[in-house]
Amino acid sequence: MTEEKLPTRAEDFSEWYNQLVLKAQLADYAPVRGCMIVRPYGWALWENIQQALDRRFKATGHQNVAFPLLIPKSFIEKEKHHVEGFSPELAVVTIGGGEVLAEPLILRPTSETIIGHMWSKWIQSYRDLPVLMNQWNSVVRWELRTKLFLRTLEFYWQEGHTAHATREEAVEETRQMLDAYTDFAVNDAAIPVIPGRKSDSEKFAGADTTYSLEAMMGDQKALQFCTSHFLGQNFSQAFEVRYLDQNGQLQHCWTTSWGLSTRVIGAIIMVHGDDQGLVMPPKLAPTQVVVVPIYKTEEEKASVLKTAKDLKAQLIKANLRVTLDEREGFSPGWKFNDWEMRGVPVRVELGPKDVAKQAAMLARRDRPGREGKVSAPLADLSATIEKLLAEIQQALLDKALAFRRANTHETKTYDEFKRAVENGFAYAHWCGSGDCEEKIKEETRATMRCIPLDPSAVMGHAGGSGSGTCVLCGKPAKDRAIFGRAY
Ligand SMILES: [Zn+2]
Repeated sequence: MTEEKLPTRAEDFSEWYNQLVLKAQLADYAPVRGCMIVRPYGWALWENIQQALDRRFKATGHQNVAFPLLIPKSFIEKEKHHVEGFSPELAVVTIGGGEVLAEPLILRPTSETIIGHMWSKWIQSYRDLPVLMNQWNSVVRWELRTKLFLRTLEFYWQEGHTAHATREEAVEETRQMLDAYTDFAVNDAAIPVIPGRKSDSEKFAGADTTYSLEAMMGDQKALQFCTSHFLGQNFSQAFEVRYLDQNGQLQHCWTTSWGLSTRVIGAIIMVHGDDQGLVMPPKLAPTQVVVVPIYKTEEEKASVLKTAKDLKAQLIKANLRVTLDEREGFSPGWKFNDWEMRGVPVRVELGPKDVAKQAAMLARRDRPGREGKVSAPLADLSATIEKLLAEIQQALLDKALAFRRANTHETKTYDEFKRAVENGFAYAHWCGSGDCEEKIKEETRATMRCIPLDPSAVMGHAGGSGSGTCVLCGKPAKDRAIFGRAY
């Protein structure tokens, strides 16, 4: 199962990632090129992500719905920018039940259009607003260059869609959901993120404003963690989503959409993983604790397994996600490596000597070797482990934040900029022109990730906001933006 070692991250980060996804059994390649099969361990992680987010969506008043996979092709053509953005990626169904269809159907790349169509029927009056919906589903975008979790032809996600009476309310919703994602990223995934606004060239096809969270991966490249779009009245005009206001006047709604996908699993792998394998953040880990029994004789086996089972029951009672590894025919050392590969945050080693002392050895996944090991009494071990999991959760976040800050550079000159994006983020003034943005991309392969909403959070100090001149053309700067090479 795990005989061959992974390449180190320094040797070949991309190959480290590809092999790790397969070896840790998170996902596999499907028979159709570009498609992904999410295996039980990967899906368990996704379910934990879903629960953590769904709780936040419901706490802010959203309800889940299910819209169909198939959308009439004409719908996508109703919003000009939307059709331009998505046409190259559409999968189109032209035959159904052996007959050529009168109107071709598309496999949804996202659901703004069909939801807009239905809202035009459901929304009549200001009393029907706001409409706050979300759906967990999969979408299809015909990608040519794919990588498991990061970019696949079909992927899993959630898409939130809301309609409001006023512009202010819709803008507030867009920002509220960005905050909800930030809270999830930082507190559950232990991934520090930079909330910001996208440039016009990077925004969603059909949005007035796109906000995103940007994170730095272990190879210093950027990954867009999720997006939240203020759609203005673009879709409500295209689909005639209107309501009668208090004065009996017909008004167009203001709408939003926001999404987060299984890409986030890629981010968790690349932010926290090390040369031994995955490192799961405790709050999302499918298995938080693995108990590995150690014995030689039948007599030792009986006593160790009995204690291990009692311990498992104690941990389950404390609502911890625990696995007791009773597999026969594998040495404890082999099992240690196997669970390290899968990134389980805490390993409990239990042998005859531990049982005699009524203690167990705890090993932290985030600190391999001796320094991460501590012996703890079996009585109340669940409380000890809960405390340890909280420490690990915090340590992962601290480490990732320190890494991002160490690899983010405030750059004044274009030379500094070019050096910074070789292996990290550049935080640079920008005149606001799409031409400069495009030229930077051509010359350095770095794209504008976002214009941070809170500049002081980028470097960890307030300095360096102020005014400046565009890093490329030298004209007075409009914004200060994060640039980096991205997934
Ligand atoms: Zn410029």
